[in-house]
Amino acid sequence: MTPPLNRALEWTSPETQPLLLAGLSFLALTLFSVAVWPKLKLLWNARPDERCDRILERIALTLKVAFGQSKLMQEKGAGWMHALIFWGFLILLFRAAEFFFIGFFPTTNFSFPATDTIFMAYAWVKDAAVLMVSLAVSFALYRRLILKPARLTLSAEGLLILLLILAIMVSDAIFDSAFLALHPESHVGPIGMVLAPVLGIAGENILGNLHSTAYWLHISSILIFLVLLPRSKHFHILTSIPNVFFSNLNPGNNLYRIDFEEEESFGVTNGKEFNWKQMLDLHTCTQCGRCDRACPAWATGKPLSPQQLTVDLRDQLNSTQSSDINVIDDEVIWSCTTCGACEAACPVMIDYVDKIIDLRRGLVLTEDRYPKEFATAFKSLETQSNPWGFPKASRSDWAKELGIPIWDKTKPTEYLYFVGCNGSFDTRGKKISTAVVQTLKQAGVEFSILGNDEGCTGDPARRAGNEYLFDMLASANAETFKEQGVRKVVTHCPHCLNSLKNEYPEFGATLEVIHHSELLQKLIQEGKLSPQKKSEEKIVFHDSCYLGRHNNIYEAPREVLNASTKPGTVKEVEQSRETGTCCGAGGARFLLEENTGTRMSHHRLDELMVTEPDTIAVACPYCVLMLEDAVKAKNLNVQVKDIGEMLAKKID
Ligand code: SF4
Ligand code: SF4
Repeated sequence: MTPPLNRALEWTSPETQPLLLAGLSFLALTLFSVAVWPKLKLLWNARPDERCDRILERIALTLKVAFGQSKLMQEKGAGWMHALIFWGFLILLFRAAEFFFIGFFPTTNFSFPATDTIFMAYAWVKDAAVLMVSLAVSFALYRRLILKPARLTLSAEGLLILLLILAIMVSDAIFDSAFLALHPESHVGPIGMVLAPVLGIAGENILGNLHSTAYWLHISSILIFLVLLPRSKHFHILTSIPNVFFSNLNPGNNLYRIDFEEEESFGVTNGKEFNWKQMLDLHTCTQCGRCDRACPAWATGKPLSPQQLTVDLRDQLNSTQSSDINVIDDEVIWSCTTCGACEAACPVMIDYVDKIIDLRRGLVLTEDRYPKEFATAFKSLETQSNPWGFPKASRSDWAKELGIPIWDKTKPTEYLYFVGCNGSFDTRGKKISTAVVQTLKQAGVEFSILGNDEGCTGDPARRAGNEYLFDMLASANAETFKEQGVRKVVTHCPHCLNSLKNEYPEFGATLEVIHHSELLQKLIQEGKLSPQKKSEEKIVFHDSCYLGRHNNIYEAPREVLNASTKPGTVKEVEQSRETGTCCGAGGARFLLEENTGTRMSHHRLDELMVTEPDTIAVACPYCVLMLEDAVKAKNLNVQVKDIGEMLAKKID
């Protein structure tokens, strides 16, 4: 005999039941659409952005990050809790569909040979999901109400959503259990089997009412949830999967080149000037606070909280009033080092750097408002092609005694060594360039420099929001590369590397650009450099944001270090690789005074000093500057060295 279907409801007749459900669903969908429509319209009318390329890569990323919850699970406890709720929800989508089917088709009966087997398998999986989600939600409530971690703010909205989810789970369990108690010959999942004998104590009348109550509680909780979604931060439940799918796949900061001939306004001064993906980002924030915890500006008392910035920009975007971004304090925008730590931490792949640079462009190019230190730097970059105003004609003075050939297009060398402004003019930076030259010569690498024809890549101008100046500097260098037939470039500055490698192709310069750590690694592997002496000092390695997070180069500098040190002497701190903390120089911040809060370089130095090192090894000349200044200010007995310098010492 076919067991009775779990759908006979006490409260409604087979005629009124679909009508009642249709009415409630229509009301909920209308309220949902009223809130979603303006958001869709915003996205539809926003600036375009190409995000439909490399579909297979996007699918793989979505499977890993969105469905596999890989980024969330990097955090034990809360990460697992969210992941369990997410997976449970995916399974329970089918259950929600079943509930609506029951409501709309109270008398329809599907039956085919494998019905019972399929149904029972589904009932077990579904009950496992109900249990999983109930436990995760209970843990979430426990965290919010009892543990109260600092980064979580207790909001009525958050509690309501958790209670609604719990109501959906409890009503699911009672619906099955009451039905089994009423019809012992029917089949339900394990939760129903356990609870039915308990509920069975009640009379038939109570059980019937309980069954109907559970049904309508389940349906109304789902519908209330739907209405609340677009009106709360839980909108991310709908947007996070597409946000991950359309996320940035390119290295670097993914900044777009402004067409100064065509465009009428530059940068973003009004929320509506963001592109559609940036707007989708703003609507996807789960307000989990992971970005704040990773942000060096926030950690050192600057007014920039990446999470708050997102919330403020989103609220302005959705406000019916003006979407002018002027309510965001300028200092918030200038506090960012463009380090990307927030992006690496964000479980739903929200980008920050592109938005912050767009806001800076708006301030610099449209509103002509920026920190006073930038005024001098912009002038120096424009006239002398370096941010400090050293004479252009003295760019290659550092190399005079070293006998480095100047690039000759009739006799090109294998590599062009792009020295960068720091390596050409800064007293400390020049020592690094000299050490790099020494290692390359020792290994017999054929290289030359552009001499006084080299100009600033424009990185500081671009990160400071002066896209016009960047365009000018990048165009000039790109022209030189083309004219001179340059193909392969090595540089010891990760900021130069990032610009030349990721941003110059738009200017027509397609180069093979490598960092000195990569070239040194290769030379060591080929046996062209073999450090005889091994250092025994205690070393800690500091990751540069533009080498690591922005260009995914983590191993090369470590291998170079390991080649010149005794095993076990190189230590790692907790905040390394993807979670490494910025030294404070990026985003053109090395040009600015740091008057608010503590210095980011001091904060980073404190993290590194936990390992009690003799030497801090670095692969970026700006990190060397920042950390060395911090060491002096704190009067500590530790050296800060570039990996090139450390290697040079071991091979001379
Ligand atoms: S890029 Fe770095 S400094 Fe800027 S908001 Fe993100 S974490 Fe903070
Ligand atoms: S931006 Fe990302 S990391 Fe920051 S609060 Fe939002 S979801 Fe969390």
